[in-house]
Amino acid sequence: MRNLIISSFAFLSLSVYGQGYFQQEVHYTISVTLNDEDHTLSGFETLEYINNSGQALDCIYMHLWPNGYRDNKTALAKQLYNMNDMSLEFASEENRGWIDSLNFQVNGEDVKWNYDEEHMDICKINLNSVLKPGEKITITTPFKVKIPSGDISRLGHVGESYQITQWYPKPAVFDQNGWHQMPYLTQGEFYSEYGTFDVSITVPENYVVGATGDLQTESEIAFLDSLAKRTQQKYDNGEFKDRKTLTGGSTDFPESSNKMKTIRYVQKDVHDFAWFADKRFEVLKGEVELPHSKRKVTSWAMFVTHHHALWADAIEYLNDGTYYYSLWNGDYPYNNVTAVDGTISAGGGMEYPNITVIGNAGSKEELEIVIVHEVGHNWFYGLLGSNERDHAWMDEGLNTLNEIRYIETKYPKINVSLI
Ligand SMILES: [Zn+2]
Repeated sequence: MRNLIISSFAFLSLSVYGQGYFQQEVHYTISVTLNDEDHTLSGFETLEYINNSGQALDCIYMHLWPNGYRDNKTALAKQLYNMNDMSLEFASEENRGWIDSLNFQVNGEDVKWNYDEEHMDICKINLNSVLKPGEKITITTPFKVKIPSGDISRLGHVGESYQITQWYPKPAVFDQNGWHQMPYLTQGEFYSEYGTFDVSITVPENYVVGATGDLQTESEIAFLDSLAKRTQQKYDNGEFKDRKTLTGGSTDFPESSNKMKTIRYVQKDVHDFAWFADKRFEVLKGEVELPHSKRKVTSWAMFVTHHHALWADAIEYLNDGTYYYSLWNGDYPYNNVTAVDGTISAGGGMEYPNITVIGNAGSKEELEIVIVHEVGHNWFYGLLGSNERDHAWMDEGLNTLNEIRYIETKYPKINVSLI
């Protein structure tokens, strides 16, 4: 009887909820060029926005998150200050970041748009005519991004090593509770609409790029394959042997090539697109067979030469993380899983769809756990799409549970409570 009451109630609430539930859809086409002399990006974005809600929309809120790094008044600057982190408060103009040169058009027509009064990293596009339920619009804009110092938060560069995250104009989420426009924060994560990305990146030819999505450019696939072969040779021939330390060695950047290359990535069913570029990267390539579908996923590790000892088994960490998370939570639905070596202010790592950036790790054990944890975020919130800003436990909590299960499964002798 009790069961019956519970199941009737569950059915009732499910049907009420089902009527109200919808997800908006965004399809991005972006072309972007890196200028590594003044650390800027020049881009053009075309996005198709589909209104799957039952409500007519008269505006679209957009995130312009590089503006979080603009001055001392942004929500990011205030949060860092309150955390006793003065990296933005006292940053020189050169180390700050912003996005400008915006000129939004909707369906080819000029529109009125304005920055949020409090937050320069949010704007509101007023539509000339309402976007009815089931209809779509095309929003276009050029944009220019000044890339801030990588010492501040997630978007940034350390010399000519680039971590290009939260970098393009992006619609805020509109869900059954309305708009969720929010300023960028270093502590407090994300909530995004899903869709497809078609991104063409132009960089000097000798950059090694890791990104969300499937690489489409044949010449670049051959370039990465040749680097992977060469790095493996260095391990096999003992060419790395003179560089025994885990973290020591040169960090010099080679000259940038005068010739540019354009490489294209596409990906469906993701909520974000991030990319990382460094001329110094070694590359390792591997493959993992998923436990349920037996489909094969390509794994990539990209790291600087002086971290060769630390990263020697990175492919194993990527493969095992992808395998076990797939086993317990459903197969990884994408074709590539990548970890890149980066210096981010927070240390640890940071996750984006298909790709994670890993901060300095002190040991191979630490590197394994950080890679596995960040890969795990492809499920939590990468696939679940929860609102991380409001419900952080839904990604960090569930992901950490899986991470501990991974350690207990692979290393049953380790006492997890001591980690
Ligand atoms: Zn995490």
